[in-house]
Amino acid sequence: MINVTKTYMPDIRTYNRFLERAYSSGWITNAGPLVQELEDKLRSRSGVRHLILVSNGSLALQVAYRALALSGEVITTPFSFVATTSTLVWEGLKPVFADIDPHSLNLDPDNVARCINDQTSAILPVHVYGNPCAVDAFGALAKRHGLKLVYDAAHAFGVEVNGKGVLCQGDISTISFHATKLFHTVEGGALTTDSDEIAERIRLLINFGITGPTRIDALGINAKMNEFQAAMGLAVLEDMDRIIEQRQDIYTRYERGLNGAVMMPALHDGATRNHAYLPLVFRSSDERASVESALKAQQIIPRRYFYPSLNTLPYLEGANACPISEDIVERILCLPIYPGLRDEIPVEDIVELVKQGIRMASTCQTR
Ligand SMILES: *Cc1c(COP(=O)(O)O)cnc(C)c1O
Repeated sequence: MINVTKTYMPDIRTYNRFLERAYSSGWITNAGPLVQELEDKLRSRSGVRHLILVSNGSLALQVAYRALALSGEVITTPFSFVATTSTLVWEGLKPVFADIDPHSLNLDPDNVARCINDQTSAILPVHVYGNPCAVDAFGALAKRHGLKLVYDAAHAFGVEVNGKGVLCQGDISTISFHATKLFHTVEGGALTTDSDEIAERIRLLINFGITGPTRIDALGINAKMNEFQAAMGLAVLEDMDRIIEQRQDIYTRYERGLNGAVMMPALHDGATRNHAYLPLVFRSSDERASVESALKAQQIIPRRYFYPSLNTLPYLEGANACPISEDIVERILCLPIYPGLRDEIPVEDIVELVKQGIRMASTCQTR
């Protein structure tokens, strides 16, 4: 069976090399040396001033909302992984959904502008599939209305926009290092910020609000990354350039093979690519379903990233309609892309199955 992604497993000897350090020191959590080393390496890679590792990407979002003292309404995208919305609701914030741009599938700044009112405290865009959203427009909008700006950059590892790391954007950016993401620490995540003050507040919040042996200065939580997670991250990081190269190669083969047979999201023209996902937007829900069954018949399992449109989640009351997002979720599939895929099946064979699915959908229609 070939899934949409496969967790990258670094050489176990490399992983052991890092684990042995934790074993011999006995320091296995609480800002240990491996977490510090991974923070340093990731910080210099992404060009941010502060990078704080946490135990997962969802907590990264929750801590970000608390660090910025968000309240009331937060304007966000309906087209993302569920955690973008669920973390808001979990923190007692009201998600307000602005519809997406039908080409980039990212949050549309004009639609966001229309949702701003006196309850709004922040904007929460996502760089969907690692493709940066309209960062200049969101920056200007947040500034004009005095709103906080948090980017869910869960997919955007290693991406640059306008010549600098995408994690430098906004008051805070968050990222996920879950096993299914491009770079991973088994479970994990990070917050990044340019502000010394916000960074200090984040470090306080992720460690119970403790400031000293006998002092607790804030309501905090436990969101710390441990040394075993950091060891995995350090091991994966050593292979990162090769991982991105292999993804680039697979992406190019898909692109060449599909050659316009199906729409791919429009990419930000000032950005680099990390090829974290391979999204295809079909003409109709039927065409998407037909391609899905053609692939599944050959044990290739694409994923409906993202489904459902988050404004339709059952636990939300009275969320506004988002016709573009609700249409796209019916027509989109993500296809397998990961290092080693080509040892299992030629990309060209997957492309043929996609085209076969498209042909079958059109014959069904004309019949
Ligand atoms: C994966 C993901 C998250 C959550 O990260 P976890 O590390 O799994 O908690 C949040 N937002 C988006 C867009 C994601 O894809």
